[in-house]
Amino acid sequence: MKIVCIGRNYGEHAKELGNAIPDEPVVFLKPPSALVPTGGPVRLPAFSNDIHHEIELVYSIFHKNGKAQADKVTIGLDLTARDLQMDLKAKGLPWEKAKAFDGSAYVAERSLAIESFPPTGHIDFMLKRNGKVAQAGHSGQMLFNITALIAHVERYMALDNGDLLFSGTPAGVGRIEAGDRLEGYLLGELVFDLKVEAAATGR
Ligand code: ZN
Repeated sequence: MKIVCIGRNYGEHAKELGNAIPDEPVVFLKPPSALVPTGGPVRLPAFSNDIHHEIELVYSIFHKNGKAQADKVTIGLDLTARDLQMDLKAKGLPWEKAKAFDGSAYVAERSLAIESFPPTGHIDFMLKRNGKVAQAGHSGQMLFNITALIAHVERYMALDNGDLLFSGTPAGVGRIEAGDRLEGYLLGELVFDLKVEAAATGR
């Protein structure tokens, strides 16, 4: 199983980080060890002082008629060590240490069948941090839709059944701190409720 992630897929988010609107999807990976166990907690890594939340629609891949398709959708967190990412970007280096560390991804347990949505329907999602809305968006705001993302990724790497595709975050990313509560909503329904804890000692 692999976790494929898309960067800068919402115009307002690209702008808030000072990035240009991309003319093709920005692709990066996280390893399976990035996944936080179901129910959390999210544990802040010791190497960063600026872990950001990025709430995203997460699609799971399943082959139908020999073709990779998104069969289910839920939401997840792409946790990002923004201080480290800025540093790596400035040096022109890859982002992995800032994006793919252990504990850098969460995926809600409950998911919805793609077939249950009308083709043009928007999928709404939202993140609350300590009870306040931090990020809200919908699938219609994506610069590249899920079909375009899958086609683009598969020009470079095959997608297998069970692979996860994080499809980018809307505007409003920000720092999380120990003691925070992060609540994720899909179509208005609470699908995860996580606590943030300080770095484990010795890490
Ligand atoms: Zn992201």
